[in-house]
Amino acid sequence: MTSHTTPSDDKNTHKPSNFLRQIIESDLAQHRYAQRHWGGSPGDAAHHAAGPVDPAQVRLRFPPEPNGYLHVGHAKSICLNFGLARDYGGVCHMRFDDTNPEKEDQEYVDSILDAVQWLGFHWDSSFNGNKTSHLYQASDYFGFMYRAAEALIERGHAYVDEQSADEMRANRGDFGKPGVDSPFRSRSPAENLARFREMRDGRLPDGAAVLRARIDMASPNINLRDPAIYRIKHAEHHNTGNTWCIYPMYTFAHPIEDALENITHSICTLEFEDQRPFYDWLLERLVEAGLLASPPPRQYEFSRLNLSYVITSKRKLAQLVNERHVAGWDDPRMPTIVGLRRRGYTPEAIQLFCDRIGVTKDYSWIDYSTLEGALRDDLDGKAARAMAVLDPVKLTIGNWDALMGAGTLDDCSAPVHPHHPELGRRSFKFGRQLWIERSDYEEVPPKGYHRLYPGNKVRLKYGHVIECKGAVRDESGRITEVLAELIPDTKSGTPGADAIKVKGVITWVGADDGVEAEVRLYDRLFTEAQPDAGGKDFLASLNPDSLQTVRAMVEPALAACAADSKFQFERHGYFVADRLEHQAGRPVFNRAVGLKDSWGK
Ligand code: ATP
Ligand code: MG
Repeated sequence: MTSHTTPSDDKNTHKPSNFLRQIIESDLAQHRYAQRHWGGSPGDAAHHAAGPVDPAQVRLRFPPEPNGYLHVGHAKSICLNFGLARDYGGVCHMRFDDTNPEKEDQEYVDSILDAVQWLGFHWDSSFNGNKTSHLYQASDYFGFMYRAAEALIERGHAYVDEQSADEMRANRGDFGKPGVDSPFRSRSPAENLARFREMRDGRLPDGAAVLRARIDMASPNINLRDPAIYRIKHAEHHNTGNTWCIYPMYTFAHPIEDALENITHSICTLEFEDQRPFYDWLLERLVEAGLLASPPPRQYEFSRLNLSYVITSKRKLAQLVNERHVAGWDDPRMPTIVGLRRRGYTPEAIQLFCDRIGVTKDYSWIDYSTLEGALRDDLDGKAARAMAVLDPVKLTIGNWDALMGAGTLDDCSAPVHPHHPELGRRSFKFGRQLWIERSDYEEVPPKGYHRLYPGNKVRLKYGHVIECKGAVRDESGRITEVLAELIPDTKSGTPGADAIKVKGVITWVGADDGVEAEVRLYDRLFTEAQPDAGGKDFLASLNPDSLQTVRAMVEPALAACAADSKFQFERHGYFVADRLEHQAGRPVFNRAVGLKDSWGK
């Protein structure tokens, strides 16, 4: 076997390298995390949040908020984080970022865990014979976060600000204007500590005060102008109940979560780039205070996935569901992982897509056809072939009974997969009547049309050659039956059959053994490539033809297939037996993707 490694290929994994792989490889080469040591007393901090730790391992994390279903953008982040952990012998933590005391929905938690596992990843590690499941929730660290806040106050790094929200906003300044110090900024640590404890003890109403980091009100980075780190919110939390009426801000909580779990590389999307100086500032202070280990985790940013014809805002996806523009989070038109799965996407196709789009810091849009191409490339090698007629019209062979004998059914067969003879053959029956596609007949053939028209000879794939004799129409002119005659001794696979040359080959299903099926022809959910760009009303570009349901005829083997089986319907594309609704005796198929990219043509 020859393997060609381009200079940009990663030495260890043969995956295309990227800036994150280079950083990790350099950190591993320098044993950057191997000598990590705790600054403080080990009993103090929630050091063991992350279980038995191999200090030399890379540790990443995937930290969703359990407030919606995961979508294809999250898939990029999952494949990146779990993929790097897998490729470099590390571990990726599954962490629910639930620091907001809003109602967490178990439905979201379950669906997120399910999505990550379905994509092919896990959050277990084993070290010194200990197997650990790295599933965490950020709210478990509230106690440590509170102590960290007190430590900052004691060291003069944080103060309680009691300006009104409006005053605070006005005094923050803006891009060209430095901020103004709060009158509360010079309070003593003792005063701040007392006031912060009053906040914690519920003595102040929501909004009366916030705890702010004391950094620099004139910083060119507005995120360093004394950002709020704790706010008062008299609200019950799904995990901690009524223990707290103050909650940490995301920007304060996240670095601490990473540090407590011994994360080495904290990878996020570029919106957080301007937060990185605060991330570093905070962790350095907490290392100095002896609360966290050194070196602390580092944050790295990459550009988020923007996919054409797709919306990836959780809020807007929820709107599509709640306003019933789609049938649910798992509607096969949704870009959610559950939607893609029901549409017929495989974990391998999604991983392939993520590998192909790569990881950079550039702002870009990925064309939807890249996602579809990955699915086609994955399914081509593995999907069984089948014949299906999506818009059936009956074909009657007038001389069948005379030539073959009345009621005769002729056995035909075809490979399950043309490149996998070991998968065997499928069989179906050819008789006097068959189903063919309505579009396979034309009274007057357009130029280059080689299918059925009066006088033309065509092969029925895997079966016989017929000559078209015309068609029968109803009063409205609609064709109800196509007429043909069998050309004797032309059956596929029999000696001499190929002596007859025909230009057209069409697919068909036997009228005697064909099975009726519901087939859902899905298309893109939006007609515009960037449905919500610039605050546009994305509902205005909903594609009215994104779902068309047809009664199709399919070959007999499909009646008994298991739900979620994938097929290539010859000439039509890739289809999946609907995971939820397909049943023996009531087949339901979803179109996953056509055979070729035909959008816009
Ligand atoms: P929210 O607005 O609710 O915070 P979110 O899309 O950021 O929405 P999270 O649950 O916070 O959702 O996301 C979890 C992780 O997935 C984050 O690390 C985030 O950076 C990443 N992520 C979300 N959307 C994308 C995207 N389009 N491309 C790449 N990564 C994404
Ligand atoms: Mg987020």
